[in-house]
Amino acid sequence: MREETANVVELSRKIKELKEKRKAVILAHFYQRPEVQDVADFVGDSLQLARQAADTDAEVIVFCGVYFMAESAKILSPEKIVLLPEAEAGCPLADMASAPAVRAKKEEIPDCLVVAYVNSSAAVKAESDVCCTSANAPKVVSSLPSERPVLFVPDRNLGDYVSRQTGRALIPWDGYCHVHDCLTAAEIETARAAHPEAAVVVHPESPPEVIELADHVASTGGMIKYAGSAPASSFIIGTEQGLLYPLQKACPNKSFYPAASHMICPSMKLTTLEKVKRVLEDLAPRIEVAPEIRDRARKALTRMLELS
Ligand code: SF4
Repeated sequence: MREETANVVELSRKIKELKEKRKAVILAHFYQRPEVQDVADFVGDSLQLARQAADTDAEVIVFCGVYFMAESAKILSPEKIVLLPEAEAGCPLADMASAPAVRAKKEEIPDCLVVAYVNSSAAVKAESDVCCTSANAPKVVSSLPSERPVLFVPDRNLGDYVSRQTGRALIPWDGYCHVHDCLTAAEIETARAAHPEAAVVVHPESPPEVIELADHVASTGGMIKYAGSAPASSFIIGTEQGLLYPLQKACPNKSFYPAASHMICPSMKLTTLEKVKRVLEDLAPRIEVAPEIRDRARKALTRMLELS
């Protein structure tokens, strides 16, 4: 998945030059290719990147991630130019909930509150009361008045995990991330048999029977923190394999094994250095969010940031 080394050096140099010229900041998700993470000013999970997008004083944000993340950056920093190096980098999970479908569900459940996982479109966020990430979802749900029903969109596994963490019944949406939902209990058992000394860490987008077997459940940022502080010296990692790179960088003396070889998100791998360079040259494609959606979605995102 890495570009040729000579090419990487030259492209990285060019990107650095263009970044200064454009007064740009490059934000990259942990699932991005290693060379893209290396060229970024900040690498993080959805919550960390949303904070960076809200706080940056750069004029241009290059978002190396998927569409909904760049949309969130535009919502939080509407006056800035937000560029997504690969316009086709969508998220199949986010596509599983549409604004009309969420509106219809709200009408069926009088008085309900809607919590939208950030892995959702701007239009769905605009229908929601508050957003959450996998790092803060239990905290966000616990902050809601207990007498109100809560619709949780779009990830059913995260909804189930949050429900068990908070003791609060949630109305689930039938969406899932294909990368995490495909991880099986049998694969965890096989990985554990191969590395009996390793701690098993999984993402809350995993199915309940996988979460049941884990030693620790965390967001990607939480996994890095855990790996640094846990006494274990090796870990089986149940999330997209891009995370192995920052984990190894953060903990060079520890060992990390993927829970399953299929845990790769094709959308996250669409961004290359060549495309990062091109968006900085062209200042396009730009992410735009219609003001009537943007303002409502911003309330839900800001509420989440204030809570966490
Ligand atoms: S890993 Fe899953 S949730 Fe993340 S972008 Fe890919 S499909 Fe979407």
